[in-house]
Parts: sequence; structure tokens; C-alpha cells
Amino acid sequence: MEKTNYRVLLYYNYVHIEDPEAYAAEHLQFCKDLELKGRILVAQEGINGTVSGTIEQTNKYMEAMKNDPRFADMVFKIDEHEGHAFKKMHVRPRKELVTLRLEDDINPLQTTGNYLSPKEFYEAMQDEDTVVIDARNDYEYELGHFRGAIKPDIKTFRELPDWIKENKEKIEGKKVLTYCTGGIRCEKFSGWLKEEGFEDVNQLHGGIVTYGKDPEVQGELWDGKCYVFDERISVPVNQKEHVVVGVDYFDGKPCERYVNCANPDCNKQILCSEENEHKYMRGCTHECRVSPRNMYVKEYNLSEEDIDHRLQMLGESRKQEA
Ligand SMILES: [Zn+2]
Repeated sequence: MEKTNYRVLLYYNYVHIEDPEAYAAEHLQFCKDLELKGRILVAQEGINGTVSGTIEQTNKYMEAMKNDPRFADMVFKIDEHEGHAFKKMHVRPRKELVTLRLEDDINPLQTTGNYLSPKEFYEAMQDEDTVVIDARNDYEYELGHFRGAIKPDIKTFRELPDWIKENKEKIEGKKVLTYCTGGIRCEKFSGWLKEEGFEDVNQLHGGIVTYGKDPEVQGELWDGKCYVFDERISVPVNQKEHVVVGVDYFDGKPCERYVNCANPDCNKQILCSEENEHKYMRGCTHECRVSPRNMYVKEYNLSEEDIDHRLQMLGESRKQEA
């Protein structure tokens, strides 16, 4: 089979699913039978998935989903890819599709921000009285974001409500635009902003991935790349120009290459050049570099002498620990 005949589907739908556990089990079998790979979350509030497969497999999947009245209107974002973007197939039942951990959960079918098309978002973004808020995690923002967008100083999405409460003055009286990868997080986040009393709340319909494919805006005003939660790690967005905004964790030079810290107890995601990966033995700190579990050391079969030599080059030594 031609490797390039593969696709990655990204989709979600907020719709009531009676028994998420049962549906997840049944859906997993269905996906396995189709030989798809990917990750799907199922909750009472709906479904959120990314799967990869051949054109034939993914077509069969989309057709079957559209025949289910619950998912008849579901939008699939389709990317071409060389081979699978996942190693396994998981379908997991969850309490909620996105983790906001709100006191009062938001039902996006009842309360959500206005949907803006890529063209409308592009135009609104350039208005002086607009504030653009990135509704994603920091490591996603660091690889790429809309020019001028605010990155809330938070580690995960669930901290966002508190951040907004503390930074109200940046937002009050302005037109608020929110965006995320495929749109699912904004459905809730924008709804929550409305509940908080903000009036002019808008969300990018279909998210960044739709914006990048739009034939009119072609991803304009996006800098960097878009982080995705599969083996691709990132996808391009701006078709007109590519401005690198990511910086190397170690030397601050422009960089768009993500690696995980080699210490499995840390596993932190860092932007890092190949050169620095070797230099720092893929460890984000001295402790991670000298960790007895360092995966880089195992992969490259480094001897004690090799490690000492690399540390010496960095002006570090293992005695530091004592
Ligand atoms: Zn680390």
C-alpha cells in the first residue's frame, strides 16, 4: 500500500451520548475492524477524535459516522499524511471532552461564543479594539500562534478560568476572539467567557487547522507551526510566509523541533536542535542529564566516561550532586 495514501482525521461533536462506556467499547471494536489508529474520547457530552488510516479506511469511517444521526453533521478536518500518525487505537470514556474543571460546567449547545469564519476572524483580528486569546497550553503557543495573541500565563487549559478572573482589565470592553487547534476547546471556553459577563465573545470556527486550509486567508497572520497531538507533532498553517517563533530551550535560537526530556520521570517537552540534543544528552536540567534512567544515555550506549566528558563540556560534573 502506498504510504502517501494515508489521511489524518480530526473531529468532534457535542451531542448527548447515553452510555459513554458502552459506546467507547463498541466504537473501539469498530475502529479496530477498520484498521484505523488514533485516539478518541467519548463522554456524555459528545465525541472528540483524531484517527489515521488509508483513504479507503477513513472514507468508510466517515460514512459510517454520518449514518449515525448523532454525528450526521460532524465536520471532519482531513490532512494527507505518509502512513499512520499513531501507533495504536484507543477509545476512552471520559467525564468531559476537554478539561476545564469548571464549578458549573458549560454546555456549548446552550452557551457558546459567536462562530467566526476564517475570513471574519482574519478581519476582526486586525481591529484595534480586539483582544485575541489563545485557549491552548503553553507548549502549543510556544511553537506557533496568531500574531499579537495573548498567551495566558498558565500551564494547562484548566487554569484558564482563574487567569481570566485575574486579568479582567486586559479584556473588559473589547471584542474577544478565542482560538484553539480544532475548535473544541473554544466551544466551552467562549461559553464560559459569556457566562462570566463578557459580551462580545467570538471563536474561530473549525480552529487553526481550518484557518490554515482556508483558500482565502491561507493561514495569514499565523506565526510558527500548529502543535498537534499525534506523531506529526506539528503541521504548517500560514501558506504565505513562515515566521519561526519557537526558540531552542538551551540557546534561544529559532527552533521548531520538539523532543521529550530523556529522563522519563520528567518527560518535559522542549524545543531543541539536534546539536543541543546531543550536547545536553536530551536532559532539560543537570538532574535529568545525570538521571540513572536517562533514555538518551541508553539509546546511544554512552559509557560513564562519555557522560563525564559531555558534562565537562557543559562545565558540569556529577560531583555537583554531592
Ligand atoms: Zn527533564
